[in-house]
Amino acid sequence: MTYRFWAACALAVLVVALIGVAAALIPWHKPPAPRADQLAALGQLPAEQVAKARAFHSALRPPLYGGLAAGLLATLVLGLTPLGAALVSLAGRPFGGNWVAQALFGGLAVTLLAELVTLPFAGWRHTIVVRYGISTQSWGSWAVDVAKSYAVGAVIGGLALIGFYTVVRFAPRWWWAFAAAGAAGLVVLLSFVVPVLVEPVFNKFTPMPESPLRTALLAVAERDGVGVRDVLVADASRRTRAVNAYVSGLGPTRRIVVYDTMLREATPDEVVSVVAHELGHAKHNDVRTGTLLGALGTAAGVIALYLLGSWAGLLRLAGITSIGEPRAIGLVLALAAVAGLAGGPAQAFVSRRIEARADEHALQLTGDPATFEAMQWRLSSVNLSDPDPPAWEYVLSASHPSTVERMAAARAYARGAR
Ligand SMILES: [Zn+2]
Repeated sequence: MTYRFWAACALAVLVVALIGVAAALIPWHKPPAPRADQLAALGQLPAEQVAKARAFHSALRPPLYGGLAAGLLATLVLGLTPLGAALVSLAGRPFGGNWVAQALFGGLAVTLLAELVTLPFAGWRHTIVVRYGISTQSWGSWAVDVAKSYAVGAVIGGLALIGFYTVVRFAPRWWWAFAAAGAAGLVVLLSFVVPVLVEPVFNKFTPMPESPLRTALLAVAERDGVGVRDVLVADASRRTRAVNAYVSGLGPTRRIVVYDTMLREATPDEVVSVVAHELGHAKHNDVRTGTLLGALGTAAGVIALYLLGSWAGLLRLAGITSIGEPRAIGLVLALAAVAGLAGGPAQAFVSRRIEARADEHALQLTGDPATFEAMQWRLSSVNLSDPDPPAWEYVLSASHPSTVERMAAARAYARGAR
């Protein structure tokens, strides 16, 4: 029995587990949101607001897709030609040129280069969100955000790379098994620590001050039977006018976060409606589901990478002799980018189903479809989201049902509840 055989067996087991978890935990049934209701809702929205949202998204598309294409192209050039391997050698040389130096500084150099290629497109996007009044950030504060997110990525990526190449070095035949387990463990660890270690790098979180709204929110959580110690307010207004709320973290780090912009823009009833949606995520353990799917998918990806690593043609293209050497970082990132791109629509589909279930939860919990609908319209108009986006964009990337879909779901719920 070869190691490749065992790796293929492990990959098969992981894929079966992934399918099993997905089948059991993803809400495949979608609450009704008839197209007739969607069109009726769309017809009631102010035409100039809809036109403005569509103009905003048309303006955003060139830098958005241009940036994606440029980033992908740079990653593929680095990964599928000897350029990436050369860059890793070059970056590692001043630091001794050994495998640690190559893994750490080579990894940073390859990701920094890919980042730099997409930076002009990100800047272009920034000018558009500023022009449309969504972003309130100056160039300075925007640049600080870019630097911070690269730094966060560098710390997490650097630790992952050192861990990975240490395993490859000390278990040259079985590294794929340890690396798969380690990568899955990292996904789980990040779910726990991101809310307490990473999110505060970008925003300040404060417990919502004592108020009738806070009392109402905790009462709704209590009625829902979801353990929520507190509702946190994020100082989102320091960079955006957009309104949002989310739930993140697992177990002891689970929190519901509301943007301060939301408290300013929305009525208290609407905030209750949004928090009821977030409680739906908490009640159905959606962060846990996402983490579990992410961990299994990542482990499967690592083993697939190992199996692909015996493809001589691919190694020759990248100018390397083994997928387990630090000089292969470019190739690894290129394969990961292609896998991420290919998996995007499936991820978006799963996300939309989970979001639709959280919407249904909010409607059941509040019994107030009118406020839910008003809130959807508020979200859409303040955030300038296209209430009824083009089908191709929806299928490729929409993480949430469209505004008119969510309004239609509220209408269908109201009819059913009556
Ligand atoms: Zn949600």
